[in-house]
Amino acid sequence: MNPKVGQIVHYLSYGTPGGEYTSQCRAAIVTEVVPLEGNDAAQAEIENWDEDQRCRVSLAVLNPSGLFFDTQLWQDESRTRGGSWHWPEDSTDTSGCPHCGRGETRS
Ligand SMILES: [Zn+2]
Ligand SMILES: [Zn+2]
Repeated sequence: MNPKVGQIVHYLSYGTPGGEYTSQCRAAIVTEVVPLEGNDAAQAEIENWDEDQRCRVSLAVLNPSGLFFDTQLWQDESRTRGGSWHWPEDSTDTSGCPHCGRGETRS
């Protein structure tokens, strides 16, 4: 499933290197979906990437204290890379998110 403009996804914020701030799940609205081109598209074909990873998205990130906009973001369902997006935990079958705790009650 490809993300669509207007859908809500999660943006994983960057933590600070010293650990003062950890990465957090933030609600984000998809503002643009750009299909991969050139080398990226070729790489995706060779490695047989999932459909949702064959694009980069722009997001309006809803931080508690303000809006933040970013473009050209990659999906990371492992939620390890700050500055990436993923599907909200309650719409996946994963076993709980270490960042926001969502999805933990699903079995
Ligand atoms: Zn999340
Ligand atoms: Zn989370």
